[in-house]
Amino acid sequence: MRVVLMGPPGAGKGTQAARLVDMYGMTHLSSGDIFRAEKASGSELGEKLNEYMSKGALVPDEIVVEMMAKAIAAVDGSLLLDGFPRTVAQAEALDETLATLERPLDAVVLIQCGDNVIVERIVNRRSCPQCGKGFNLVTMPSAKGENCEDCDVALSQREDDTEETVRQRLEAYRAQTEPVLDYYRNKGQASMLDINGEKPIDEGVADLAKALNALEA
Ligand code: AMP
Repeated sequence: MRVVLMGPPGAGKGTQAARLVDMYGMTHLSSGDIFRAEKASGSELGEKLNEYMSKGALVPDEIVVEMMAKAIAAVDGSLLLDGFPRTVAQAEALDETLATLERPLDAVVLIQCGDNVIVERIVNRRSCPQCGKGFNLVTMPSAKGENCEDCDVALSQREDDTEETVRQRLEAYRAQTEPVLDYYRNKGQASMLDINGEKPIDEGVADLAKALNALEA
């Protein structure tokens, strides 16, 4: 199964993805995670990526497409894409990559969430630098306060999780990523699934699992 997870920043794509990986054994490819790993490596490419990421702007398509095509080609089996594609040009490039691999897209999932909920969620978002587990200071706090409840190391906040950058990322989403949904709707090849991202996570995951199970049946 090949699935694209879409939705504004903070809609819960990463959280849903982590649960789907556990439930279906899918390989989760998050473009944001791949870019943050490149940045952490200290490479020249990582520095270039950071020029865009730190401002909440999209990384240019040529860079994104090359990095993601490589990552996708290395995956065997079910694939869950999160954060990619974010422009129509990226969606077209993804179609080409998947056509070459003879693995067409099965579903495009849109996780919907209002702007106020998103901003509130993102500024309170934290994660464990050691195990990667995600928390929210308000809605999903760690049992150990500011430390990871599993590893007991101090939780960290993404540099781009500030209110100002979130507003930029939301603008980029509306202008550049929402048209991708129309691209997929018009193409009519993959199933379009709508999920309410404002529901408690367990309910959202159950909704999505039900929709994906119906596709597989
Ligand atoms: P995310 O972790 O998905 O919120 O992505 C963090 C940042 O990485 C975004 O704000 C962009 O600067 C960059 N980014 C991630 N995925 C893409 C993409 N598909 N196209 C362009 N930029 C991206």
